[in-house]
Amino acid sequence: MKNFLILLFLLLLSIGCNTNPKIEPEQDSVETNTPCDKTGLTLQILGSGGPAAGDVRASTGYLVWFNGRPVVMIDAGGGTYLRLQQAGVHIRDIKFLGISHFHPDHASELPALLWSDIFSSRPTPLNVSGPEGQGSDGIKGFLSAINDMAAPIDAFTRINAIEVFPQKDSITTVYKDELLEVIAIGVNHANKPTLAYKVTIDHKSIVFGADQTLDSPDFVNFVKGSDLLVLHLAISEEADKPFTNLHAKPGKVGTVAEESGIQRVVLSHLMKLDATDKRANQFSLYDINTTVRLVGSKFNGTIIVAEDLACISL
Ligand SMILES: [Zn+2]
Repeated sequence: MKNFLILLFLLLLSIGCNTNPKIEPEQDSVETNTPCDKTGLTLQILGSGGPAAGDVRASTGYLVWFNGRPVVMIDAGGGTYLRLQQAGVHIRDIKFLGISHFHPDHASELPALLWSDIFSSRPTPLNVSGPEGQGSDGIKGFLSAINDMAAPIDAFTRINAIEVFPQKDSITTVYKDELLEVIAIGVNHANKPTLAYKVTIDHKSIVFGADQTLDSPDFVNFVKGSDLLVLHLAISEEADKPFTNLHAKPGKVGTVAEESGIQRVVLSHLMKLDATDKRANQFSLYDINTTVRLVGSKFNGTIIVAEDLACISL
C-alpha cells in the first residue's frame, strides 16, 4: 500500500480536480514573491524545467535558504536570472553556486548572473564550482571564455572557481566552512562530465541528483542519510535512445529513491515537446500523472512535483 499522499493524489486525479499534480506542498501556479518559510533550511525551486519545458517553466535551478539567507544556488539554466529576482534574491547574496554540467539548460544564465554581479559591492568572492575532464574545459574554461569573449566579469578576482573532477566511485569535498559543506560525486549523463551535489547546513542535507541515468552504483550510497533528494524526471517510460542515454525512466527514478532510504523526493527537470512532435510521448510532461504514478509505484515516501518558485522546508 502506498502512503496516504499518493492515494490522495490518485483520488484527486480520478475526480478530475487536479490537472497540475502537486503532492506536497500545496502550491499555486507560478507567482512572484512566493512566501517561503525561511526560518530554517528551505529549498526553493528556481527552475523546474529542462531544455524543452514548454510549460512556462524556467530551466534548471535551485536555491537553498538558511535562516532567511540565500546561501547556495545549484545550476543556472535559462530563466533562473528572472526567477532569482522573483525570489527576492541578488546573486551577490549567494555564497556558493554549483554547476552540475555545462548543458545550456543548467549553465546558460551563469554569464548573465555574473555580469549583473559586477554592479554589486561583493565583500568576498563568489564560490563557483563545476565539472572538469573528458574533453570539458571545466568551470575555469567556461568563466574564462565569458571573460574574454562576452563580458569582463573579472572572473578570477570576484570568483573563486572550483574545478571538480567527476569521480563516480568516490566523493569530493567541493567547499566547506563553518556553516556549509558541499560534496559531489560523478554521475552518468551520456558522455558529459556531470556532478551530483550534496549540500549540508546545520546537520541537514539536500542531494541534487542532476541529469543522469541513475545507474551509477555509488549514487545510492551518496544519497543515504540525506533529508531531501531532488531527482530529474525528464523522460517517460516510453522513452528510447538517445534520451535514455541521458536520463532515467520513471520506474528507475522511483527505485533509486526507494533504495536510497530517502523520505521525500522532489521531481524536477520536467520536459514537454510540442504535442505534434512524434517524440512527444517520450517526455515526462506528456502525461505527467502517469509518469508520477510510475515513480510512486516503486517509492514509498512522499513525492513532491516541482513548480517554479515553490519552497520545501526541511
Ligand atoms: Zn538538463
